[in-house]
Order: sequence, then structure tokens, then C-alpha cells
Amino acid sequence: MSVIYLDNNATTRVAPEVKEAILPFLEDLYGNPSSPHHFGGQIEKHLTLARQSVAALLGCSPKEVFFTSGGTESDNLAIRGVLAARPDKRHIVTTAVEHSAVLVQCRELVRQGYRVDFLPVGCQGGLDPSDVERAIHEDTGIVSIMWANNETGVIFPIPEIASICKARKVPLHVDAVQAVGKTPIDLRAVPIDLLSLSGHKIHAPKGVGVLFVRTGMRMKPILWGGNQERGKRPGTEPVPLIAGLGKAAELALARLETEQTEVARLRDKLQRGLVETVPNLILNGAEAPRLPNTLNVCFRGVEGEALLLLMDQHGIAASSGSACLADKLEPSHVLLAMGVSEADAMGAVRFSLSRYTTEAEIDRALGVLPALNEKVLRLADRVAV
Ligand SMILES: *Cc1c(COP(=O)(O)O)cnc(C)c1O
Repeated sequence: MSVIYLDNNATTRVAPEVKEAILPFLEDLYGNPSSPHHFGGQIEKHLTLARQSVAALLGCSPKEVFFTSGGTESDNLAIRGVLAARPDKRHIVTTAVEHSAVLVQCRELVRQGYRVDFLPVGCQGGLDPSDVERAIHEDTGIVSIMWANNETGVIFPIPEIASICKARKVPLHVDAVQAVGKTPIDLRAVPIDLLSLSGHKIHAPKGVGVLFVRTGMRMKPILWGGNQERGKRPGTEPVPLIAGLGKAAELALARLETEQTEVARLRDKLQRGLVETVPNLILNGAEAPRLPNTLNVCFRGVEGEALLLLMDQHGIAASSGSACLADKLEPSHVLLAMGVSEADAMGAVRFSLSRYTTEAEIDRALGVLPALNEKVLRLADRVAV
């Protein structure tokens, strides 16, 4: 069955080019890049090539690219690694709408005695840079703010925030897992100190990511062992995954334009179609600067999970928000922070497209969604009676 996959903020398909780039490392090129012999040593240059591709995508030096196991690890390494190097600093600034890799980590740091400011967002999901300015104190150890939200696609004003943090001499970590490949990033122009990205959100496999660490940034590792990744991230490198991520980074750079034109056009078509055919629709964050691939809506009066189940039966895969919390029937913390009511937030559905989404798929989805919405609405009525 051909699924209409509209859940690309949860994960993406591996690009065919990426798969091709990985295969040699599952076959003959299986050496350990740290080995002294030539068979292993020849692998090292492939790590270098991947590092260069990621550096080109981000606008940084290859020396500033550190491979990790993914976005979650990069977020943890950034925050805990920087705090460990600044033991006198006991305060953290972040937002109320971060991914759980930052949010849950910061809640744990509160239990360990840190003070954390979880900055609020406006009704369109936006963040006011002056709130960041006000929140920074003498003992602020790190500011961690996402570039783009995984649920709504809303883009935060990271260049302004970075200037503020630089002026106040506080390290800034940016979770750019959703922003990479969808919006231009140039670390030469924006003074960010640390930045996370994840392979499986940009058409590489799951289990590999990057932490960018600007030269001169002091931090400690959170894992201890060998000297891989210059000690910042010990452990034998997952060479096949890193080779795949390198290719995915190349593709992301080459396809950035497509993302902003073609993917955005299909997302806008989906949005327009739903607005015209679903009377109980609410758009979330659609007035804010937003990723080109993301559409977050509430079907008012509808149980989002029920609608998603029906959609699933019709071969449409979407999400109620953060997949990591999807086993819990709780309204999205992101929508609640935007002032959406609990009742409306229960009807939230996130559609997220990719370069592989076709016009025919959007047409097919638009063909069935209004009827599915009606069906769930009628069910809700009957339960109420
Ligand atoms: C997916 C995601 C993560 C986690 O990345 P993993 O590689 O799945 O650990 C972190 N932050 C954001 C914004 C994400 O969308």
C-alpha cells in the first residue's frame, strides 16, 4: 500500500542517494578509522568528507563538527557539557516549547538544583528576543533555544537572540534539528556557540547526528572513553551512518531551494484546501515565520487521536504533535503555551511534508479529510447526546 506520508517532522525516508553512499561501508569498507593499519586508516578520510559536507551546509569549519548519535544526544551534550565546564553558573534560559530533549533535560536540571527560565511564546508561537535579554543573569550558564518548532514549524528570531547572547557573553545552544535543510543556516553570520542537528530528520538514517561547537567554546564530554571526535564524543564512529549523513547534508544544501518553493507550495495548497472545506478548522502559528513543510491545525470539537486513526485507515500518516509523547493522551505543551484551549488542543493535527511529497498525495488527502472530520464530529455529537 502506498502510504501518504505527512509526518516528516517525526522522521524522513532515507534518500536513495544516501542509501548508495552507505552501502560500501556495510560491505568492504568495514575498518575501524582509529586502527593503525591501512585497512582501517583509509576509513578516516570518509569521516573527513562527511564532516566537510556538514560544515558546508552549516557554514562552519569541519573542525567544529562533532558526530553524535542524534538530536537528543547533541542537545544533552551541549547543555550538560557547557554547564559542566562552568560549575559556578546555576541558571539556564530556555523556552516553554522546546523538544523534550531540551525540556525534560532542563526539568531534570531543576531537580539537580539549577534555576531554569522557560520563556513564554505569543499566540502565534513567536518568541520575543527582549524576553531573552531580560532573562539573562550574572549566573546564567547557557541559553538553549530551538531554531524552529517541531510541532508548529514556527521559526524563532535566532540571529537577534544570538547577538544578545554574544553581547552578554552567555553561550547559546540552538536545537536546529527541524530548521536544517528547510531554512538557510549560516554560522559565519550568526554567532551561535553550539547547534544540534539530527540525521533522520534530513533523509539520513536514525541514530546519527551532529553537535556544532564553535572553536574556543569550553565544554566537557558527557561520555568518557577514547579520543574519537577529539574526546568530545568517545566511542567508535558509526561510519556507515556518518557517511549517510554526509550525503544527506549535501542533498539538503542542494535542495534548500526546492524546500522553499515546491514543498512550501504543496503545504500552502493543503492549508488552503483545509481552510475551504473544514469549517471547524483553526490554524496554529500560520501567521508567524514558519518552516515551509509544516502545517499545524486544530479540528475544533474533534478528538485528534480519533481523526488520526481514521486517517491511518485511509493510508494517511500524520501526527498529533510530538511523536515522543504520542503514547500519552495529553494536549501539546506547545499549543497550550500559545494559549490554545485544552479542548481545542486535543483536536490538533500536524502535517509535515518533504521533498518526496507529491501533488497527487496532497490532492488525495484533501479528497478524504473533510469527510473524515465530519465523521468524527458526528461521533462526538452522538457521545454528547
Ligand atoms: C526529532 C527532534 C529531536 C531529537 O532528535 P533524535 O535524533 O530523534 O534524537 C530534537 N529536537 C527536535 C526539534 C526534533 O524535532
